[in-house]
Amino acid sequence: MRVLLVEDDRALAQGIRMAFRGEGYTMDWVADGLDASHALRCERFDLVLLDLGLPRQDGLDLLREMRAREEGNVPVMILTARDTTTDRIQGLDAGADDYLIKPFDLDELKARIRALLRRSQGRAQPLLEHSGISLDPATQEVRYQENLVTMTPMEYQLLHQLLIRPGVVVTRERLSNTLYGWHESGPGNTLEVLIHNLRKKLDSRLIRTVRGVGYVMERGS
Ligand code: CA
Repeated sequence: MRVLLVEDDRALAQGIRMAFRGEGYTMDWVADGLDASHALRCERFDLVLLDLGLPRQDGLDLLREMRAREEGNVPVMILTARDTTTDRIQGLDAGADDYLIKPFDLDELKARIRALLRRSQGRAQPLLEHSGISLDPATQEVRYQENLVTMTPMEYQLLHQLLIRPGVVVTRERLSNTLYGWHESGPGNTLEVLIHNLRKKLDSRLIRTVRGVGYVMERGS
């Protein structure tokens, strides 16, 4: 899952990014409203964590602007110290999906993010289950035919992405975007290597290559 963190407090941003490291998210960070606006227009994110008091463009304005655009349906969670009822109402009315007051507990943030992503993917069920695979976003545990399978964070992310819509081709571009964000893929982490590893750890027939396009989790049984 690719998350855009919009936060001008550097220490807090680093703390959040650190807390999410290795947890199956790619977190890209911008420190002001205009950079956020630009990133949101150019790239695709699964979720936005949005501070309200931001340099150059206020978070609420940014949110309204996002929601006014057609592609602006990405889930947004506001993270802010503005904690009056009016602030919260304004945030929600501007199109936020959830609201967390600083200082917050990182575990609560993680749980709320999982809930938001679930909703945005149209699921009420926390577990993703398909063809003998079961993936738990809360624990990042993957099981295949009941057996626990060890995954690197990148393998986990890739599998997660493919499991959201079995039978639907996910483009290479979309997958790279989710896995690497603004960072380059490392030598052991190219898409081909990760797919190869998943096939080895699960079943080679589960993930099909669509040449020149991307990959698909076979609909299977
Ligand atoms: Ca701020």
